[in-house]
Amino acid sequence: MDFDIYVHRGAGAYICGEETGLLESLEGRKGQPRKRPPFPAISGLWRRPTIVNNVETMSHVPHIVTNGAEWFKRIGVEKSTGTTIFGVSGDVVRPGTYELPLGTPLRELIFDYAGGIPEGRALKAVVPGGVSMPVLTAEQAMQVTMDHQALNAAGSMLGTGGVVVLDERQCMVRAALVIARFFRHESCGQCTQCREGTGWLHRLMVSLEAGTGTPSDLEAIDEVARFMDGHTICALADAAAWGSGWFLRRFRQEFEAHVSHHGCPLAGTSFEV
Ligand code: SF4
Repeated sequence: MDFDIYVHRGAGAYICGEETGLLESLEGRKGQPRKRPPFPAISGLWRRPTIVNNVETMSHVPHIVTNGAEWFKRIGVEKSTGTTIFGVSGDVVRPGTYELPLGTPLRELIFDYAGGIPEGRALKAVVPGGVSMPVLTAEQAMQVTMDHQALNAAGSMLGTGGVVVLDERQCMVRAALVIARFFRHESCGQCTQCREGTGWLHRLMVSLEAGTGTPSDLEAIDEVARFMDGHTICALADAAAWGSGWFLRRFRQEFEAHVSHHGCPLAGTSFEV
């Protein structure tokens, strides 16, 4: 089959990574996700049947055509076959992108490929699939493998394979605040739960970080996150809810300490959780 490929540059909006937001953007409108049905495979770009795939997915195709599906299925683990590109950032010696078989232990990715944590510091938390996926504690991270089934069983997801490593110096409230600020900025604003919820999560995190948070703010974070999850046009609200909500659920002691210390207890101390 002979065909042409045209590359259209996006304008940098995170939401244009969502397939129907991308289609709206390509048609010259604001990058706002569409309600489904109809799904893009029925009515997509210019209302024609459209399949949207990631570049990474398409890059597998020539190798599968050349080497065969059985070859591809022998890489990885039973229900997560092939390789993926893990983008490792944060507190590691060698941040970068690593193409590895699915099922690679997260411990190996951090400590062998990415060179471990600088100056021998201890691991505290890992976001295993981009900031829209639930954070893992160090203990969880050291046991999990990077495939769909293992990460689901550990209470997170593979997502984009973007691994964010946080060492013992990092404040979990601060990390959640940065993620909340990002999602507040990137919400397209169509859904009330997302538009208002991302704003509330960000304001609550700012308050905790500033030392003005109260015990009821912790309940409010949990409540707002649950209210956002699963009730909107696209998954950005879910992502924002998981980002903040799971930092609170998995590091609650540190959030409570921000209330009792009227600010971050980590600054200049050896605070442990
Ligand atoms: Fe827009 Fe958020 Fe609704 Fe997605 S969930 S369509 S980003 S308002």
